[in-house]
Amino acid sequence: MENTKLDFAHKVISGLQKEIETYTKNGAGPFVAAIYDEDNNLIVKTCNSVLNDKCSHSHAEMNAIKEAEKHYNTYDLSPYNLSLYVTAEPCIMCLGGIMWSGIKNVYYGVPSDKVEEITGFDEGFKPNWHDEFKKRGITVYGNIATEEGEQALRDYVLNGNTVYKPTRDTNI
Ligand SMILES: [Zn+2]
Repeated sequence: MENTKLDFAHKVISGLQKEIETYTKNGAGPFVAAIYDEDNNLIVKTCNSVLNDKCSHSHAEMNAIKEAEKHYNTYDLSPYNLSLYVTAEPCIMCLGGIMWSGIKNVYYGVPSDKVEEITGFDEGFKPNWHDEFKKRGITVYGNIATEEGEQALRDYVLNGNTVYKPTRDTNI
């Protein structure tokens, strides 16, 4: 059962990673998320839209949650047993968003330390988040399709796209 779920997650996440370039060409990305229901039907697919929206919280996961809540017309997605798939590990803000949404399963691609190393994005401090999610009944599977995901992030940087974050007087 678990292998079937992970095979599906691999298929979904590598598919999302292949689409990153299309999004970044339009000023979006480089992160893409999708939410599926328990029968593996796609409910929403969204990309990060911080630059186009001029909104610091328009991350792919936050956009996906917002659209799914609109789709089901509720602030609590828990009755629908939904799974979130995302091309990279959620940042500190998105972890909060996922926790409050009622999403039941999280599958992600590239881990945050790799995202930070490749791009310079700040993913935030997230001590023991897998354990904290488990305590709340949310399952987490990470490091799925990492090679493809890392390449997409390298391409994002190589193509001179913006690594958006607030201006700070520190190196983070
Ligand atoms: Zn985020």
